[in-house]
Amino acid sequence: MPGQNFQIAIDGPVAAGKGTISRLVADQLGFLYVDTGAMYRVATLLAVRAGTNLENEPAIVKLIRLSNIQMRNPSHSEKDGRLTTVFLDGEDISWDIRTESISSKVSIVAALPKVREVLVKKQQIIAGTQNVVMEGRDITYRVLPDADLKIYLTGSDIVRAKRRHLQALQRGEFVSYDDVFEQLKIRDKNDTERVNDPLQIVDDAWVIDTSDLKIPQVVRLIVDKVRVMMDR
Ligand code: C5P
Repeated sequence: MPGQNFQIAIDGPVAAGKGTISRLVADQLGFLYVDTGAMYRVATLLAVRAGTNLENEPAIVKLIRLSNIQMRNPSHSEKDGRLTTVFLDGEDISWDIRTESISSKVSIVAALPKVREVLVKKQQIIAGTQNVVMEGRDITYRVLPDADLKIYLTGSDIVRAKRRHLQALQRGEFVSYDDVFEQLKIRDKNDTERVNDPLQIVDDAWVIDTSDLKIPQVVRLIVDKVRVMMDR
């Protein structure tokens, strides 16, 4: 049974527009936006910084447990294109977790069952008491299986790779389109084929293909639907 609060759960592959769309939907509805991918990215950054093997599950779980991870809406002075501000033990790592180097490693860490267990619990606690737009890869069926609205955002491989490439260039990361495309295919494959909680489309998900839609169009579709649902 859904709780008192309204939960929007969004899943989808790399660069389907989940982050940007979720942030705008949350702002328009006054909901909290939760980027669960950022949590897996923090776990990866912790492992990289500690020089830990990316498949060393107990060591990475320990690093997560010993760390203070805080996520919040960007403040006025932090509005530099980020969607969320992430602190690790007081250090602003919002951009450190977005590099192509972390992106290429994160699905390895995200495949570790105990890492998922710890992070899913944190996500369920956050979503338990307030209206949320939560996005990731397992939100519609693992984190919030009773969400009021479940959405699967997707898009063609080429459109998604072009978006991700442009984002990297805008950040000053000069990677080639071919490399971005290849990394995206690898990450999608890892995310859909992993044994534990692979990315999947649940039966009651509303599937939105964002390839030929502009961001404001998708945001409007979702916001309008939620307003109707909340008025019932
Ligand atoms: O959404 P983003 O691309 O930042 O997510 C980074 C990675 O974290 C994904 O490729 C996936 O491996 C992992 N992830 C996950 N479950 C989630 C969110 C992200 O496995 N709920």
